[in-house]
Amino acid sequence: MQTSFTTAQLADPEIAVANDILRSCVHCGFCTATCPTFVTLGDELDSPRGRIYLIKDMLENNRPAGDEEVLHIDRCLSCLSCMTTCPSGVNYMHLVDHARVHIENSYKRPFADRLMRDVLARILPHPKRMRAALGLARLGKPLAFLLPGESMLAKRLRAMLNLAPERLPAAQSLGGTVHKAVGETKGRVALLAGCAQQAIAPSINNATISLLNRLGIEVMIPAAAGCCGALVHHMGRHEAALAAARRNVSAWGAETLDAILVNTSGCGTVVKDYGFLLRNDAMAGQAAEISAKTKDISEYLLKIYEPTQLAPEITVAYHAACSLQHGQQITSAPKLLLRKAGFNVVEPKDAHLCCGSAGTYNIMQPEIAAALRRRKLDTLKAKAPDVIAAGNIGCLTQLAGDGIPTVHMVELLDWMAGGEKPAALRGAEH
Ligand code: SF4
Ligand code: SF4
Repeated sequence: MQTSFTTAQLADPEIAVANDILRSCVHCGFCTATCPTFVTLGDELDSPRGRIYLIKDMLENNRPAGDEEVLHIDRCLSCLSCMTTCPSGVNYMHLVDHARVHIENSYKRPFADRLMRDVLARILPHPKRMRAALGLARLGKPLAFLLPGESMLAKRLRAMLNLAPERLPAAQSLGGTVHKAVGETKGRVALLAGCAQQAIAPSINNATISLLNRLGIEVMIPAAAGCCGALVHHMGRHEAALAAARRNVSAWGAETLDAILVNTSGCGTVVKDYGFLLRNDAMAGQAAEISAKTKDISEYLLKIYEPTQLAPEITVAYHAACSLQHGQQITSAPKLLLRKAGFNVVEPKDAHLCCGSAGTYNIMQPEIAAALRRRKLDTLKAKAPDVIAAGNIGCLTQLAGDGIPTVHMVELLDWMAGGEKPAALRGAEH
């Protein structure tokens, strides 16, 4: 694609990157067919190619974002299915991230929109605040239908309340803890515990730590490490995202580690990109090293996992989180591990399509998210599974509550390696 940035514009390193990305797009449109928002809405401007044109026009003309760009870029899930499809290697992720920063810096959103985004940015990255908010949301959940009107605010509030779990698990606070290997120590890793995950499903971290320890791996969670920054990054809050990345790079960089493990693939995609995010920072070298050492839990387990028993007859529908299959290009490891543990693994039709979770997307874009959730659940349930497994807490929350238990794949692997049976399966006949 031809671009017409001036020499002065190209002196800005962020614009130079955007220019290179735009020029790599050959307008072929292959990406439209696999884009969940285009598939759902049928509007070219809600396809990757359409958004690329909008971003190009906005940046080339060096003008503030307008209503049209904000509408269509906000509707993008950042699922990165387009990057998997693109034959030309267009780095849509870096382009849309840059567009979001441009929007954040140049567009004044309506008051209710700003308020909602502020509240989410102040609560979700902090497990204790998140837990308190979930407690309130749980109390308000039965009254969600009373929220008046069909305004976007009412729909978002209803979506937020509906996401609250029926029961709130015990509080988890893993910062500053070290979990020794059982028997001989064969490795030492840091675990990114995840913000929402600690509040909603502490069993995922418990299973991860228990499994790694039994496989001879010491697990530590530095007190200074915290939220990966994904949430604010996807809101275009660049400085807040950089601050989160610097804090984590510094915390993990101070330790002697074989790997930094992530069991929330949405976070893993961002941590693996710290090297790019901090490329112009004093910590650039350290950030690149941390990114290179970061692994999804399934990647790491692939080399060391050994079940101690074979699974009972359970059909597991594996839902591939976008951040794992498109963001990190990890497609086979989770299925290989589940099969090694003896589970019967099935996959839904159109597995490349997002379930609609996408960070805060299911709150901010409740209608599209609900349509994608329904589609995903229908395709998963068509395989008659006993349980749905995924590698990302956002997807598990999005797909919960429709009659099929949802578990993190590591909970199933831990169970077959001598750990506890996942709570979601207790009471079932296996
Ligand atoms: S990231 Fe996903 S929703 Fe956004 S343009 Fe690409 S395929 Fe479409
Ligand atoms: S598939 Fe790639 S090259 Fe083709 S239009 Fe989409 S982003 Fe551009």
